[in-house]
Amino acid sequence: MSNCCKNSLNIEKNESDICKACGQAGALVKVITLKSLLIDEAKNRLNNYKYHFCCSPLCTVVYFSNPDSYFYKKDLSVKVSLKENELDIPVCYCFGYTKKDILDEINAVGTSSVEAKIKAKIKANLCACEIKNPQGKCCLASIRAIVESSKM
Ligand SMILES: [Zn+2]
Repeated sequence: MSNCCKNSLNIEKNESDICKACGQAGALVKVITLKSLLIDEAKNRLNNYKYHFCCSPLCTVVYFSNPDSYFYKKDLSVKVSLKENELDIPVCYCFGYTKKDILDEINAVGTSSVEAKIKAKIKANLCACEIKNPQGKCCLASIRAIVESSKM
């Protein structure tokens, strides 16, 4: 009988969107992204077409589809910058810009030109976020977050 209250608090949260390892909701990602970035052994375990990307920096799960199809950091051929502390991992996977590139430039000249450079390449139709970025989406939000955090 208390279920009605519980449900009203969780209107947005769907059980199937929650990563079992960290309890956070994941973001839907296209299966083409997994096919591109999973190592062969892991690719064989793909069993459906609705996967989520786990956005928690500390969680080792990268992709999941409930109830039981989970892929971890070790199952990918690239490192996920969101989940690593190292500075030399790409933030922009299409053109290879790293957190270090961004911070070095800010240290040297006080500003970052990376966002503008990426935007120019997007305009020229050169990006391939769906198959290169583990999040399966444009990296500009992540780039901005790094620039913002450097100002603090
Ligand atoms: Zn997780």
